[in-house]
Amino acid sequence: MTDRWSLTETPAMYPGDDQESRCPATSDLTAPQSATLAALPSVIGPVLRTVTCELALGHDGDHIAFTGAADDGERWWWLYWASDRHRLIQVDTCARASINGPHRDECLLAQDHSGPHSFDIRATCVIEKAVRA
Ligand SMILES: [Zn+2]
Ligand SMILES: [Zn+2]
Repeated sequence: MTDRWSLTETPAMYPGDDQESRCPATSDLTAPQSATLAALPSVIGPVLRTVTCELALGHDGDHIAFTGAADDGERWWWLYWASDRHRLIQVDTCARASINGPHRDECLLAQDHSGPHSFDIRATCVIEKAVRA
């Protein structure tokens, strides 16, 4: 059986065990928020009803989760929430990328997010995508 981990060959300076765990917070979109997303032009993919925070465990500030991309994927919409607020807003993606040999991992989080970039957060699905690309 092929070990797909050997394909990624994690650099010594970024041992896998040092990657951050993901924040487990979840939130439901409100009916008006779902309606706002559903009404956007050229939404790609299903509109999510329940989202999970995509930042690293223990991050500062609001939780942030991707909710959908409108205008053929040009505009990304995110849910920002905390105990006392709950906002659906359009924010560009973070511009940072990690160059790891032939791989270029773009950060898939919202611009100006707190904590580490998505490529430094443990997420098996992202690694699988990078290997197959
Ligand atoms: Zn969070
Ligand atoms: Zn980032």
